[in-house]
Amino acid sequence: EGKWGKAMGILKEFEEKCATPVAKLKQVADAMTVEMHAGLASEGKSPIWVFYLQHSDEEGVYYALDLGGTNFRVLRVQLGGKGVGLVNQEFTEASIPPNLMTGTSDALFEYIAAELAKFVAQEGPEYKLPPGRQRELGFTFSFPVMQTSITSGTLLRWTKGFSIDDVVGQDVVAQLSKAMQKLGLDMCVSALVNDTVGTLAGGRYNNKDVVAAVILGTGSNAAYVERAQAIPKWHGPSKSGDMVINMEWGNFRSSHLPLTDYDHAMDAEGLNPGDQIYEKMISGMYLGEIIRRVLLRMAVETAIFGDTVPPKLKEPFVLRTPDTSAMHHDASSDLKVVDNKLKEVLEISNTSLRVRKIIVELCNIVATRGARLAAAGILGVLKKMGRDTLKDGDQQKTVIAMDGGLYEHYTEFSKCLENTLEELLGEDVFKSIVIEHANDGSGIGAALLAASHSKYL
Ligand code: ADP
Ligand code: MG
Repeated sequence: EGKWGKAMGILKEFEEKCATPVAKLKQVADAMTVEMHAGLASEGKSPIWVFYLQHSDEEGVYYALDLGGTNFRVLRVQLGGKGVGLVNQEFTEASIPPNLMTGTSDALFEYIAAELAKFVAQEGPEYKLPPGRQRELGFTFSFPVMQTSITSGTLLRWTKGFSIDDVVGQDVVAQLSKAMQKLGLDMCVSALVNDTVGTLAGGRYNNKDVVAAVILGTGSNAAYVERAQAIPKWHGPSKSGDMVINMEWGNFRSSHLPLTDYDHAMDAEGLNPGDQIYEKMISGMYLGEIIRRVLLRMAVETAIFGDTVPPKLKEPFVLRTPDTSAMHHDASSDLKVVDNKLKEVLEISNTSLRVRKIIVELCNIVATRGARLAAAGILGVLKKMGRDTLKDGDQQKTVIAMDGGLYEHYTEFSKCLENTLEELLGEDVFKSIVIEHANDGSGIGAALLAASHSKYL
């Protein structure tokens, strides 16, 4: 009986440390708003990237390459011009071989360029461009970049498990262009964006009420629409019009964030210690890993999995968020899915129902904390935009384009996020907020931006 008491003790302590009462979430939201103001004012602070949000009446065929973390996608979109919009889109998806995530710049970019070349080689004659015209690409590169123009930007640091030293400080468009040239692929990058900016641009193409985009996938980030005159550091040609701000909110941190010893250890032992603290609490790459760490401590201190600690449980990142999400959603009375996942992923068999229930509860605690903190971040953005209250007679809708595998597939997570947002905003304001799932928005948006920044215009 002692081991149960101890295991429950670890669980309860963890639950308390992860608590996200409304008062705390409001502090997190306020801290986010403060950060946003600071980011707009200071030159050297967070790498905010601003550019004109353009409306695209263009027509023709454009390409996009979406490199986000786990997978990458190659897309081709056909635009019908004014009033017609998107006529056709096709894509392929491939995963990034893990060895390329920590290899060399040439290896990564040549692999990506080769996939792109393959995609182009397979297309029909109807996509042949007029002589002298190059194919144009929107490159969605979802890592922190210091944007130097619409077609160039230097990588500040890697995130999400990537670590390729010789790209840091380099122009990622130049790297990709070099690889395309080497392979004889006649294509040029017309727009460099990240997933948030792509999703926002794509969302707005369909719906003018889209004013922000949030990504909850391998990592997390957000972007929103800001008036140019509100950006002191914008020295561009005009102070009017709408701009997009890439927040890089994954790198947000605040003393109000409920961090536990497990979070600190995961951060310290990871590839980018001290960076992306908020992302590490809310995004898909990390939720499963936090749970593994708690389970490992339980295994060591209370022997809930028997006298020897299961060796698999010691492997960092072996327990992935799709696995913990499947366990969390297990609706069977004997928690069959949990049992299977434990066998399949951690090589643990013969668990009692009691142990499986503890595991489901752990998944719930970590997902709930992540989803509620993500909702607090959204509240911070809404506050900055002045959309967290209703103005008299205001019927305006606030639409947030949302994308990413975590949000898309982890129902308990997305439900909790939406419920929390309602809890924070109140029923009436919440009714004016629409969260729109922008499936694949980041790639389509990049192609649209390539079109609106085409060198042939
Ligand atoms: P990226 O951020 O790399 O562009 P995606 O938006 O496609 O990737 O999201 C992939 C991520 O989504 C995975 O790394 C994983 O963390 C998360 N994910 C995918 N499927 C599920 C699932 N069924 N349950 C929970 N999370 C999932
Ligand atoms: Mg993505």
